[in-house]
Amino acid sequence: MESVVIRNGAVVGPHAVTIADVLVVDGVIAAVGERLDAPQGSREIDATGCWVGPGLVDLHTHLREPGRESAETIESGARAAAMGGYTAVVAMPNTEPALDNVALATYVLDQGSRALVDVAVAGAITQGRLGERLAPMGELAALGVRLFTDDGAGVQDAAVMRRALSYARPLGVRLAQHCEDAHLAGDGSMNEGALSSHLGLIGRPAAAEEIMVARDVELVRLTGSPLHFLHLSTARSLAMVGAARDEGLPVTAEVAPHHFTLDESACATYDAHFKVNPPLRSVSDVAAVRSSLVNGLADAVATDHAPHAAELKDLPFDEAPAGMLGLEHAASLTLEALGGPQADPIRFFALLSRGPARIAQLRREDAPVRHSGHGGAVAAGEDANLVVFDPVERWVAHRDRLQSFAYNTPYDGRALVGRVRATIVRGSVVVADGELA
Ligand SMILES: [Zn+2]
Repeated sequence: MESVVIRNGAVVGPHAVTIADVLVVDGVIAAVGERLDAPQGSREIDATGCWVGPGLVDLHTHLREPGRESAETIESGARAAAMGGYTAVVAMPNTEPALDNVALATYVLDQGSRALVDVAVAGAITQGRLGERLAPMGELAALGVRLFTDDGAGVQDAAVMRRALSYARPLGVRLAQHCEDAHLAGDGSMNEGALSSHLGLIGRPAAAEEIMVARDVELVRLTGSPLHFLHLSTARSLAMVGAARDEGLPVTAEVAPHHFTLDESACATYDAHFKVNPPLRSVSDVAAVRSSLVNGLADAVATDHAPHAAELKDLPFDEAPAGMLGLEHAASLTLEALGGPQADPIRFFALLSRGPARIAQLRREDAPVRHSGHGGAVAAGEDANLVVFDPVERWVAHRDRLQSFAYNTPYDGRALVGRVRATIVRGSVVVADGELA
């Protein structure tokens, strides 16, 4: 095992930031303090001017394996994650076939154990993600699965969702909902409004999302079971979840970088790289999602990293699949939304690491077997899953420099601020000087 010493960074704890060195030995943080003595042969990382915090955790990563390995594999997705500063990702279950059984979940966990970052698995709520019969949640929970979702679609039948919530609670797992009423969303390919009419594209109304948020808040009230709301994209959705939280209901919410960075006007290019579900929303909804980062309505930023083969994204807007890449630019876009280099680093790590690790149960104290601890304090005794992030560096996103197999980023050519300098997973430096080690 290598030892690593990270020198002179701004170490970001849950409540305070201190300039210190961090010494990592045998995969664990051995000491945090000023001018630490490091064992001979230790690797030195100069973190002057950088933030040193817990490795980022993505609650929402589509790794596409099994079934669509030409778009992404567990191995390539994990490389993209490491470049983005992530030390753990939750693999979404809408693979082909869906991750609705122990054999497939075990396969993804085994592949993930050889990947650059920790790969946790979200199981499907229903068999085949068809929204009818429940998946074997108990067996999957015994394997260490802590999050369940039919993401890609919401569970349409309220009675099925109620039953799933009731099963989840005694298992100690959490359901996560992709809120969209399928009938109301229909075949829409962008946000419904004046612009969709003008462009001649069928829209998906904001109400398609909000109706399911409202329904699910009531189901949480009925069952008392925790529920996580995926990629909320409208002001009303966030307000409803905030009101439910104020009542004491066990609800959490994530928002995706594209929903606080891009608005529906991007669709006027008819470029399918801007097609995503839920769709890019109105300017006022984008402002509300951006505000949720600072006003506390959002518990986490999650990428919804959704690779697609180039030939599919080059189809006409209404025929192309929805989804965009996210892992390699999320930290920079979140920093930008929080105010750039002057952003509060504690909030940055709350949204990108500590919040998601708590929701996915990946902290050291509750991490299931197979996973090391994420999202904790940067303190002696914690597992050494760390990121060194330079909040000042300016760079430009390029689609041909991605680690992902796919190219479907909407940020090609975008000027960014803030860059991952190093990613350390279980004590190993996997990204150094902004490059894969
Ligand atoms: Zn989704």
